Amino acid sequence: MPMKEFQIIQRYFQHEQADLLLTEKSQAGVLLGIGDDCALLQVPALHQLAVSVDTLVADVHFPAAAVPDDIAERALRTNLSDLAAMGAEPLWFTLALTLPRDSHYLSEEWLSGFSRGLFRTANAFDIVLVGGDTTSGPFGITIQVMGAVPHLGALRRDGASVGDFVCVTHCVGDGAAALALIENRALFSEEDKTYLYERFYRPTPRIREGILLRDIASAAIDISDGLVADLEHICNASDLGAIIDVETLPLSAAVSGINDLYPGREWALSGGDDYELCFTVSPEKMPELAMLIAAGKIQASVIGEIVAGRGVRCELNGEPFALARQGYQHF
Ligand code: ADP
Ligand code: MG
Repeated sequence: MPMKEFQIIQRYFQHEQADLLLTEKSQAGVLLGIGDDCALLQVPALHQLAVSVDTLVADVHFPAAAVPDDIAERALRTNLSDLAAMGAEPLWFTLALTLPRDSHYLSEEWLSGFSRGLFRTANAFDIVLVGGDTTSGPFGITIQVMGAVPHLGALRRDGASVGDFVCVTHCVGDGAAALALIENRALFSEEDKTYLYERFYRPTPRIREGILLRDIASAAIDISDGLVADLEHICNASDLGAIIDVETLPLSAAVSGINDLYPGREWALSGGDDYELCFTVSPEKMPELAMLIAAGKIQASVIGEIVAGRGVRCELNGEPFALARQGYQHF
């Protein structure tokens, strides 16, 4: 007997999650969670709600054959990355699942794996599932995340100024390298394979960094489409341009080990799926960032500068560095 919709919800999604929120997050709280027509949520006093939604489609955002735990983790983590990019603290999320009738997605194995991955990530990042929708149709996952930012404290794309430094957290290029690995387009050592697989299915949303950067960065975005494409969003929103010094791109061992850096740099600039933060910092605020870096609170590097004009230019040793591809485009 196939499982009924409400059985699926109860069994796999209506889980008790620690509601530490009432005390820890300035009076935020779930007044009513899963089970009614709406959830009732108390937004913390003097804060604004940051909301973002993303749909994941099999074979576009993850390989259809991926294990359910990994699909769930990646889906929630990439959504959390949008909260990180705004400097928001995670509070709640909703989940809309569309599952094909009579498919393996409706098995105990798939649903329990998905649920396990989902709650493992939710608990790790202190975000509570408060509702959703479960329907049948072509497979799809839509997650909406909600987070809190102090009044007027959000990091936005439109705050960059001429002379600001362009920075990224950790390293870039791993997302594209992982995709090359999954699609068998490049060869890696066993150690690199393990590293890239983890980076692909369990990217770390830079929540902590986003919160620390609220008072330091002038603009921020998370890298999902590709560094150049996403920095271009900051440039367009701020009505300015940028120069990236390709030499300074922070690359992991897995990415820099390949072919004299060539595809590595291409992956870092146009690959996407890195879920690192790209942000800008004024020269006056640089000492504060440097202190956080020195204290080990943020891992970040300067990779370029905001300039007058339009668009993003990449340079290597003062010469233009041409890119084969600009970034991911759905249409
Ligand atoms: P309605 O028909 O009133 O829209 P549903 O039957 O769709 O309600 O959902 C019943 C309850 O279960 C609601 O509180 C809804 O938010 C929740 N819910 C449904 N699907 C999911 C899911 N995949 N994850 C979490 N909560 C869900
Ligand atoms: Mg209803």
